[in-house]
Amino acid sequence: MRVAVSGGAGFIGSHLVDALTARGDEVLIIDDLSSGVRTNLPSACRFQQEDIRSGLTLALLREWRPDAICHLAAQMSVSRSVREPLFDASVNIIGSLNMLEAAREMGSRFIFSSTGGALYGNANILPTAEDHPTWPLSPYGVSKLSFEHYLHCYQSEHDLSYAALRYANVYGPRQNPHGEAGVVAIFCRAMLAGQAPVIHGSGTHTRDYVYVSDVVNANLAALDSMEIGHFNVGSGRQTTVNELFSLLSHRLGVTVAATHGPERRGEQVTSALDSSLIGRRLGWKANVDLEQGLSLTVDWFRSRAGGEGQPPLPQTSA
Ligand code: NAD
Repeated sequence: MRVAVSGGAGFIGSHLVDALTARGDEVLIIDDLSSGVRTNLPSACRFQQEDIRSGLTLALLREWRPDAICHLAAQMSVSRSVREPLFDASVNIIGSLNMLEAAREMGSRFIFSSTGGALYGNANILPTAEDHPTWPLSPYGVSKLSFEHYLHCYQSEHDLSYAALRYANVYGPRQNPHGEAGVVAIFCRAMLAGQAPVIHGSGTHTRDYVYVSDVVNANLAALDSMEIGHFNVGSGRQTTVNELFSLLSHRLGVTVAATHGPERRGEQVTSALDSSLIGRRLGWKANVDLEQGLSLTVDWFRSRAGGEGQPPLPQTSA
């Protein structure tokens, strides 16, 4: 299969590219390297450094004619979306529409990396299923939800085949510890450097953490199916930031205390996703539990801190 992956130099995208090339798919990566890094890119793939909003991206896709597009490139910081909603919309709506137009012209299946955490707002049912009302609390959640509506519209107007995957909080090796999102990576880096991580607010906010190889498997399952719709991809388990901090302290064997900073705007209080729909329709389930995933992630960050190269990623199946 010919698969175009936007955001393929990023955290989740690069793991997806590895999985696609390992199973023999032909891959084109489009990434502007705004947060992704060249070292994540496998040498066997075609790579184009380009903005998803540009006409060149559309021209490239027209020329390459992918069977499917996995669209991961995004402005993905909730805080930045609150500060710069126009920028967030330009990348997450206009840029995504550029990719979608290519899919419409080529008849490509479209797999969209959406969000579960930021879409449902402060849900009154936890874990939250796809039919729960969506009231995002941040421009990031609004832009992701808006694009899901475009997908639905293109499906009914143009017969577009698509799956929108609503991820919980994804974590694992290669996550950028220097950004504003990715609490596991940020905590690992700080604690390995002997610094006290900052917990925003009281630390009693809950999140659903899903390991990156499980998210890759959800993409593969969506690519291999013709099922259309919106699917949660999470563990269903709520973990507070304070619990996460103590699990990581234990695994890292460090005793630094966290400091507490102000709450961040646009963040919801609780989040956990009910992923039974994707289980029934695509046969997906999370295979890596939080304890196992944190161990694998800690090993990777530790090896990076020691400059010893990267440990192997776990082999899991959907
Ligand atoms: P990431 O920042 O590591 O990857 C995003 C990639 O997109 C980067 O390589 C970046 O350089 C590229 N990119 C950004 N803007 C671009 C543009 N205008 N043109 C071309 N390339 C551009 O983030 P990630 O964690 O791998 O997230 C991937 C996707 O998953 C995003 O769509 C994000 O919204 C979604 N998601 C992530 C999480 C999570 O917890 N990490 C949760 C829910 C949804």
